[in-house]
Amino acid sequence: MVDEADVEATFAVRITSARPVTLWAVTLLGDAIHTMSPGRGDGANIALRDAQNLTAALARAAAGEVSLAEAKRAYEIDMLDYGFAAVAESLTNPFSGRLSAPAPRNDVR
Ligand SMILES: Cc1cc2nc3c(=O)[nH]c(=O)nc-3n(C[C@H](O)[C@H](O)[C@H](O)COP(=O)(O)OP(=O)(O)OC[C@H]3O[C@@H](n4cnc5c(N)ncnc54)[C@H](O)[C@@H]3O)c2cc1C
Repeated sequence: MVDEADVEATFAVRITSARPVTLWAVTLLGDAIHTMSPGRGDGANIALRDAQNLTAALARAAAGEVSLAEAKRAYEIDMLDYGFAAVAESLTNPFSGRLSAPAPRNDVR
C-alpha cells in the first residue's frame, strides 16, 4: 500500500495526545480536552458523546433538578473518565479496535 501511494497527494498530519487534567473553572468537550491519535476513529465520536451528555446535564440544571455547578461537575467527572480512557487506549493500541468492519446492516435495501 505504501509503495503504491500517490506521494504528491499525501500530507503530514501532526498528532498530539492530551494529558489527564483535573476539574477547573471552565468546562470543555471534544478535542479541546481529550485530543488523541486518530487511528482508532474515536475522537469525533467521543466529542459527540460529550455534546449529548453536556446537553443532558444542562437540561437537568435548567429544569431545576440539580444546580448548574452540580450538572457541570457530573458531566466532567464522567467525561474525564471515558475521555482519558480513550486517550490511553489510543496510545497503547493506536490502530486497533474501532476500525474493524461494521456489522452488516439488514435494513439497507
Ligand atoms: C486524520 C484524522 C482522521 C480522523 N478520523 C476520525 C474518525 O474516523 N473518527 C472519529 O471519530 N474521529 C476522527 N478524527 C478525530 C476528529 O476529527 C476529532 O476528534 C473531532 O473533529 C473533534 O471535534 P471537536 O469539535 O472537538 O474539534 P474540531 O473538529 O477541531 O472543531 C473545533 C472548531 O473550532 C474552531 N476554532 C478554533 N479556534 C477557534 C476560535 N478561536 N474561534 C472560533 N472557532 C475556533 C476550529 O476552526 C474548528 O472548526 C480524526 C482526526 C484526524 C486528524
